[in-house]
Amino acid sequence: MKTRKCKYCKNSFEPIAFLQKNCFDPGCVMDWIQETKEKNWKRKKAKLKADLMTVQDYIKLAQQVFNKFIRLRDAGQNCISCNKPALKENAGHFYNANNHWNVRFNEDNVHLQCEYCNTYLHGNLIEYRENLITKIGFYKFSILKHESDKTRKFSIDELKEIISVYKAKVKSFENN
Ligand SMILES: [Zn+2]
Ligand SMILES: [Zn+2]
Repeated sequence: MKTRKCKYCKNSFEPIAFLQKNCFDPGCVMDWIQETKEKNWKRKKAKLKADLMTVQDYIKLAQQVFNKFIRLRDAGQNCISCNKPALKENAGHFYNANNHWNVRFNEDNVHLQCEYCNTYLHGNLIEYRENLITKIGFYKFSILKHESDKTRKFSIDELKEIISVYKAKVKSFENN
């Protein structure tokens, strides 16, 4: 095999294994053992943590990523309800997330909202409705209304899927 540069001491060495990244110097071998141990422990810890996560934990995580996407998608727009610039940006549900599970992660149901309308005015729904119809159109609004009445339970696998889809969408915004 061709000589390589040791990952640790930067000297050249002749590897005997395909993925070998360090030379045979005892110090470099120790570094490699230590690094491998840490990597394995990190992997194990991540897996242990994932095994302990409940559906509730996944819902929370999915909501965080989804809301982040909404804030990025609507960046620069005014609050969907009061139509003023939002000082503190929230992602506000039109149909309340806890009572309308089927549209909890529906993009038509969640828009950029100021904290005042979202929290203190409980969504400021009368104005929200009007501006939502203007924004997405009456056709989409009626579909949303219809969907909001359906019940829905999410499995961990479905939530994982939502998380990965919205993580990717968030990333595509952040790369632009
Ligand atoms: Zn070395
Ligand atoms: Zn507002």
